[in-house]
Amino acid sequence: MPHVITEPCIGVKDTACTEVCPVDAIHGTEESEQYFINPDECIDCGACTSVCPVEAIFPEEDLPENMKHFAAKNAAFYK
Ligand code: SF4
Repeated sequence: MPHVITEPCIGVKDTACTEVCPVDAIHGTEESEQYFINPDECIDCGACTSVCPVEAIFPEEDLPENMKHFAAKNAAFYK
């Protein structure tokens, strides 16, 4: 199960996570309101979770109930 970026990232888009990801699985565009994790590239190392200043990143299985829809939102960015 990949890691997932959730609501606190919206409007923040701190780049700390992109700098620590060993497989370059985190992306966004200037237009995107947040960053996203590619579920096919994430190796679940967890490095991004502790560096996120707004604690927006969770393992998919630990997503809070009100953030579960972000799993599909992250994946949709890569469709
Ligand atoms: S858990 Fe690891 S591999 Fe997955 S997005 Fe975060 S830093 Fe990258």
